[in-house]
Amino acid sequence: MSFYEVIKEYPYDYVKDLIYNADENKIKNALYKERLTAKDLAYLLSPKAEIYLEEMAEISHNITCQRFGKTIRIYAPIYLSNYCTNSCIYCGFNRKNSIPRVALTLDEIRKEAEIVASHGIKNVILVTGDNMKKFSFDMLMQSVKLCAEYFPLVSIEVPSLTFKQYEELHNAGADGLTMFQETYIESLYPSFHPAGPKSDYLYRLDTPERAAAAGMRFIGLGALLGLADYRIDTFYMCLHAEYLSKKYWRSLISSSFPRIRHAAGEYKPEYNVTDRNLLQLIFAYRIFLHDAGVNISTREPASLRDKLVYLGATIMSAGSKTEPGGYSAAQDDAAQFSIEDNRSVEEFCSTIKKLGFDPVFKDWDNSMQGINFAK
Ligand code: SF4
Repeated sequence: MSFYEVIKEYPYDYVKDLIYNADENKIKNALYKERLTAKDLAYLLSPKAEIYLEEMAEISHNITCQRFGKTIRIYAPIYLSNYCTNSCIYCGFNRKNSIPRVALTLDEIRKEAEIVASHGIKNVILVTGDNMKKFSFDMLMQSVKLCAEYFPLVSIEVPSLTFKQYEELHNAGADGLTMFQETYIESLYPSFHPAGPKSDYLYRLDTPERAAAAGMRFIGLGALLGLADYRIDTFYMCLHAEYLSKKYWRSLISSSFPRIRHAAGEYKPEYNVTDRNLLQLIFAYRIFLHDAGVNISTREPASLRDKLVYLGATIMSAGSKTEPGGYSAAQDDAAQFSIEDNRSVEEFCSTIKKLGFDPVFKDWDNSMQGINFAK
């Protein structure tokens, strides 16, 4: 069964009804279940469940500590190119925005990698816009190989690719993929993605699955909160994470909860997602999926990120720059979105420690490779 078939089992109006007509008994019942159904998830995402936010926070904290310990994995993005052929109406890299366009050379990428590595970072995600003429697949392969010299874990957040391309990238050293669906609501998707390769809803929806099937061990999902009804989008994202966790159990599935931030262009989101709304979505996800990661980037302000260290985050970026070449020379008007937490890696890690958690830069090794246990 494909994930698209799963979505079809939960039509939009049905999910909306579950979320907006949940009653208190159903919510209370869902809160203390060992394993939640999709309906229970909808109840925890409902506006009525907001009155249980404190209870949800406590349960979320307990589950996270039980499954992940008091640890936060640290990573940083490296933006390689902001050329893009797509027209996502909410994004600063949209092809229609007149921003300085940059595609880094291998020498420039090495410079970025050296700076990021000098802060102790061992886990990076390489980000590009969607323009394979300006930043080719071959260049991406070379970038992955280059960064693998500096970082034990290299992930990618790049255009949707084929299974074979993911296999090649995986063999070159890429072990993770992030692919945000932006909105799972098929009828709304075209209005946000009017042109370019990304306008293909189904191809994008299947992308995380192609990467997991190709062997990527870390798969990141996300809906861009604020584009559409964020409660409904989070419902579908949770089902997506559950589907992938069951089918590709060797991969760790994590989800991000990005709220739309200011970027170049005029786009104003239709839905305002408050801090309380965001916390409720994260808690519901955690109570539904005990073993999935929660990724909180520097899009969120320092005060909220500090709370989330305690309340459910498992992976957090630090010291990030969101423009190509940003670590060597800042050029803010070329950024994909604005950063809210500008603390350095060192400052952020010191805060994590003060909160009683351990920042983790590396928690795996390749040392088992090549050992033949059959001997
Ligand atoms: S969201 Fe991605 S694909 Fe869309 S315009 Fe921005 S960089 Fe391009």
